[in-house]
Amino acid sequence: MTKHIGIYPGTFDPITSGHLDIIERGQKLFDEMVVAVAESEKKNPLFSVIERVKMIKEATKKYKNIKVESFSGLLIDYMHRKKANVILRGLRVISDFEYEFQMALTNRNLDPNIETVFMMTKADYAYMSSRFLKEIARLGGDVRGFVPPNVAKKLIKLFKVKSFK
Ligand code: ADP
Repeated sequence: MTKHIGIYPGTFDPITSGHLDIIERGQKLFDEMVVAVAESEKKNPLFSVIERVKMIKEATKKYKNIKVESFSGLLIDYMHRKKANVILRGLRVISDFEYEFQMALTNRNLDPNIETVFMMTKADYAYMSSRFLKEIARLGGDVRGFVPPNVAKKLIKLFKVKSFK
């Protein structure tokens, strides 16, 4: 029987509770799910791809069917290497839609056999993004509600936030 492999690609700079929720719910849909961390050098990430992979591995170690890997280059080429045909993406507020729609159609154009599947965010995480949480951490705010504990620790250390209320 063919193994159904789903790929959840993203920059994950760093992984948030919103991403984690998509991973948690998404892994139930596949035999194996790969969280594929894009190098995304153009986005000038705060964390190196090695650090991002490590943080996701720590946060997802309880799931037996999840792999975490990095990739560079075209997602479609990576999908071929993995013999996977489903891309999983999360959708938050309406502003995600245009970009995701464009990307899904582009990927379909590159390979019509690859489907993009979208999962709606949990309402609690609808406005959560890596970009905002980095801003909160940079300004000394408490990020513990937005990220897994291992990531909160890392952000606290990085931005030298001394203490939280
Ligand atoms: P990108 O891949 O565009 O660089 P991210 O790494 O932030 O962006 O996100 C990867 C995927 O996770 C995207 O599909 C994004 O829409 C989704 N995502 C990000 N944050 C959330 C959230 N809070 N709830 C649901 N999905 C999310």
